[in-house]
Formats: sequence, C-alpha cells, structure tokens
Amino acid sequence: MIKSYPFNYLSNKYYQWAASTIVIFLTGWKYFLSFFHELFIMKEPGMYTLIFMATLLSYGYGIFLIFRNFNNYELTFESGTIIITVLLIGDTISAVLNKKISNNIKNTLSLENKKANLVNNNFENEKLIEIINLKIGDIVLIKKGEKIPSDGKIIKKNALLDESMLTGEANYVQKTMNDNVYGGTVNVGDYFYVQIDKEIDKTLMSEIANKVNEIKHQKSKIGKIADRIAMLFIPFVIILAVLGFLLQYYIFEKQNVAFAINTFVSVIIIACPCALGLATPLALAIGISKATKYGIIFNNVDVFDKINKINAIAFDKTGTITTGKLMVSKIYGTNQNNALIYNIEKFSNHPIAKSITKFLELEKNIEPINFDDYNEILGEGVIAKIKNNTYRIIAFKDDDFDELINFNEKTKNELTEDMKKNNVFIAFYVNNSIENVILLSDEIRLDAVKTIEKLNLKKIESFMITGDNDKNAKKIAAILGIKNFYANVLPIQKSEIVKTIQAQNKIVAYVGDGLNDIVALQQSDLAISMNNNSSAITNSSDITIVKEQLFSIYQALICVKLTRKIMISNFLWAFGYNIVALSLAMFGIIPPMFSAIAMGLSNITVLLNSLIFNALKIKF
Ligand code: ADP
Ligand code: MG
Repeated sequence: MIKSYPFNYLSNKYYQWAASTIVIFLTGWKYFLSFFHELFIMKEPGMYTLIFMATLLSYGYGIFLIFRNFNNYELTFESGTIIITVLLIGDTISAVLNKKISNNIKNTLSLENKKANLVNNNFENEKLIEIINLKIGDIVLIKKGEKIPSDGKIIKKNALLDESMLTGEANYVQKTMNDNVYGGTVNVGDYFYVQIDKEIDKTLMSEIANKVNEIKHQKSKIGKIADRIAMLFIPFVIILAVLGFLLQYYIFEKQNVAFAINTFVSVIIIACPCALGLATPLALAIGISKATKYGIIFNNVDVFDKINKINAIAFDKTGTITTGKLMVSKIYGTNQNNALIYNIEKFSNHPIAKSITKFLELEKNIEPINFDDYNEILGEGVIAKIKNNTYRIIAFKDDDFDELINFNEKTKNELTEDMKKNNVFIAFYVNNSIENVILLSDEIRLDAVKTIEKLNLKKIESFMITGDNDKNAKKIAAILGIKNFYANVLPIQKSEIVKTIQAQNKIVAYVGDGLNDIVALQQSDLAISMNNNSSAITNSSDITIVKEQLFSIYQALICVKLTRKIMISNFLWAFGYNIVALSLAMFGIIPPMFSAIAMGLSNITVLLNSLIFNALKIKF
C-alpha cells in the first residue's frame, strides 16, 4: 500500500462499488429500459441484451468478489461503467449530429417555396406571401395540388382533400362551405378558398421536426443488420463464454473457480457490441447530412436500401428535364381574351399556367372573372364555363391549323415561322374555335446532359415519359441521348409505362414534378420528386430534390453509396476487435478490465472511421 497516494480511495472496493452503482444505474437506466423493450415487448433479443448481460455480469461479479474476498483478482466494476460511459458518449455524438442534421433539413426546407396565395375579402388581388406572414382571418386560395398552409374553414367552393397525413385514411374526403380543413393536408380537387383560423408557425415547425424524428426512429433494413448480428451473436457468445470457463477450469488453471469465472465474464464483456450500435446511426447521420447539402431530402430510411438496386430511371419532361420556367414569347389572336386566359390559368398549378399568368400579370387592370364551372384535367389542360360559353386551354397541335378560322393567311404563316423558334404551343378555345395561340419556350436544365451521362456510366438506363407531343419529345431525347422515350402520355398511362419497364426485369426510379406524375411515382420502385409547391407530390416520394438541379439525383446516389461504405467499414472495425479480443479472452489472456478497454477502443475506431469519411469531400 502506498500511503501517500492522494487517490488511494480509488482502489477502495466499497468506493468502487458505490461509484459504479451511480454510473451504471443512475446514468445508464435508459439502456436497461431499452433492454426490457427489446426482450419483453419486441421479443427480439438484440444489441441491448448483450449490453445488459455484460454490464450486470461485471457489476454482479464485482460484488461477488468483494464478498468472497478474492483479493488476488481485480474487481470488475469498471467494465460495466466503461460500457455505459461509451454508450453515453455515442449517444451524445449522435445527438449533436442529429441536431446538425435537423438544422440542415430546416435550412434546406426553407429554400422550398413555402408560400400561400393571399386574396382580399372579395377573393381578388391574389398575392403570393410567405406562409409565416399569414394571419388569422386571412383568406387564401388553394390551388389543385397545394397544401393548406394552416388550419381554417372553407368559405368558397367545395374541396376534395387528401387528409391521409392526419388520419392515415387513404381515401380522399369531400368538404364544403364552413367545413374545417387542416394545415398540411393537400388539395387533390379543383381550387377553393379558406379562411385561416390558427397560427401557423408552431404547426409548420413541428411538422419538420416530426419528419426528422420519424427518420431517426425508422429502422432501415440495413439498420436492422446490427440487431440481426447481435441476435445471432448471443447464443454464440454464451457458448464461447461457457467454453472459456470449462477450458480454464479443467485444462489451463485447474480447479480455479475464480479464474474460470473471470474468463467467463471477460468473454461476455468483450462480446458486447456497442460499437455495432454506433455503426449504423453514425453512417446514416453523415449520409443524410451530406445529402441535405446538395439539396436532397430523404423522406424515409428505406431509400438507403432501395436506391442501390435501381438500374433504370424514367424522367418526366416538363419541369423535370426542363426548367418548367417557361418564357411566353408571343400570344397570337385578339388580346380581348387575355382576362379570360389569365383567370383560367390562375387556378392551375401547372408550370405552363404559372408562366402564362406571370406574363399576363404585366398587363394592368385584368378584371377577375367568375366561372360557373371549372375543371382542370391533369396532363391535358383546363375547361371553364360561363353560361353557354365553354373555354378550353389545351395543347395546340400541328393539325389544329385547320381550326384557325379567325386567322388570316399572313398570320398563319407568321405563326408557322414563330413555332420553329419555340417549343410549347397552347391553344385557347372559345367553344369550338381557336381564338388564341400562345407560344412559349421551355429550356432543358443545364445539368441534364451531364446527369444522364453519369447515370449511364453507373449502368442506369434513362427513359423519358411525357404528356407533350412526339416532336418535342424526340428533339429533347436526341439532345440528352435518351433512346427510350414515350410522348403524348396521359397521367394514368405514365404508370403503365413504368410497369412495362419493370416487366423487363428492371428496378425503376421515376422522377417527376407534377400532379400528373403521382400515379407513376407510386408505381415506381423509387419515387423522386423535383421541388414544386405541390405537396401532393412530395408526399408520394422517397426523395425530394429541393435545389433547382437534376444533378442532385446522381448526387443522392453517391451519398447513399458513401453511407453504405461507412456502415460496412464501421461493422468491420466493430467486429475486428471483437473477434481478436474474444479469442484472447477465451484463453484467459486478457482479464475483464482489458476487455472493457478493447471495447472502448472499438467504439473510438468506429467513431474515427465515420469522422474521416465525414471530413472527406465527395467527388462527383
Ligand atoms: P409533362 O408530362 O411533360 O410534364 P404534362 O403531362 O404536365 O407534361 O402536360 C401535357 C400537356 O398538357 C402540356 O404540354 C400542355 O400542352 C397541356 N397542359 C396541361 N395542363 C395545362 C394547363 N394548365 N395549361 C395549359 N396547358 C396545359
Ligand atoms: Mg412535369
């Protein structure tokens, strides 16, 4: 005994007992809860079962040694304390990373157009405002596909809503005047007006927070690997521990119970795979945080499993391959119809409609017009009625030239020339004659060619499925080098085409931006949506691309591959230690205390491995 040693009490067995009791039970109680949950509620012994076994065994064995006065054997309290301490450190790191991720996601989501269409008490003067500036009593116009910004009441027209995010019911609900509607639910019918009666900020934030939490708590298939390994591990470890005990007792240290028990404890402690528990969450945290930087939001954890299997990708055209921000270059025909065209398109969410209204807004004094009937047909256009007049806005096709009865030859020739310079042509029908032709041009996204090339290199074949005409589709497919394209496709047929591609033994990702893409997104094996104000689409996708770029799709692929790489190398590190140390422990070469240190080291290595990956810049 060295009397002058100032920390002499540290070696006092009762002090050790007390201190470890505090660490294990006061700070570590939640791991015991996890163990009970795992064993008695989930009925699947996993990682926490091993942790529980190792911790309690080292603690119990420590007490046993005190009472049996095996002075020549070190007490084993520190093993249990180290296990709990390491777990706490791992949790703290995860918490810090998760906070960083949820901030990242919040920042990324704020890039999204969180806007509402505010109107005055006469339902006029539509203005786009930030949702956070909405006040109680405000009246907002909810267009097809839009999310209701906050809770309120319908005050004009009827609504067809998707409330599944609230009720879990897949069926759409019909609502009429004075019915309550809820923030976050989605308009799947035609436009209607809502008066807001709840504050917005809390609901919106909690929605985002819930999403982050949801992802954290979902166990992906790869995430479950850790538990599956632990489950297989348990009987194996117990057999090894018993074997170690027998080996020591009958062969190496004949009849020495204390040493044999020591070996048994050592093996169990060393097998405790808390590094396995760190391996998946750390890798996921890094993958998700990197992805958000590139404007990619993963809406569920299964993406990490699904994306790797993809070998075909089908793109929508307008708003996906093209920017969807179309330039109106000219409107042929009388400008007396401008007010009608404006008022019809202002209730539609389609990129073409948005571009036309934006263009016409430049004209002053457009009067609001009320329609007796209004019907938006996805992938085709809009039909509206006032009394006996029917107005239609739909694509203008080459053979529609015969119907231009109000146009003289000179104008028709001009139109033909102009059509060569543009690529989107829209007709405005009054009853059965075309009164106006609107010419717009839509541009291919700057990174589209690069994205498709890169995907090709990864052996992912590209397809294009569009509601637009054959001529346009052909032109764009040629520029992009896409061999397989489908034109004039109705929304329902889009999913049929996805099905046909799947039938060729392909695992298909579908990328779309419009309401006309929802069925196809649902049919696909991996649904990717390009950012759009329409929540109906975001809700039915696995990945949302928030940035205005196509290349994010390729980046998502790389981020997931990286995540898997981190995960697998983490598993290897976690196991490397276990396997080496297990055999040493079995032959009594390392005592429990060293087992605990080895275990701590494996945690640190897993952590370092993850951090190194995190620090590396991804090359695309
Ligand atoms: P894509 O599949 O390329 O995204 P859509 O299926 O959304 O195209 O639309 C197909 C065609 O229907 C458009 O090219 C356009 O001609 C017409 N269309 C659909 N909705 C509207 C609208 N609101 N206003 C004008 N044209 C529309
Ligand atoms: Mg589209």
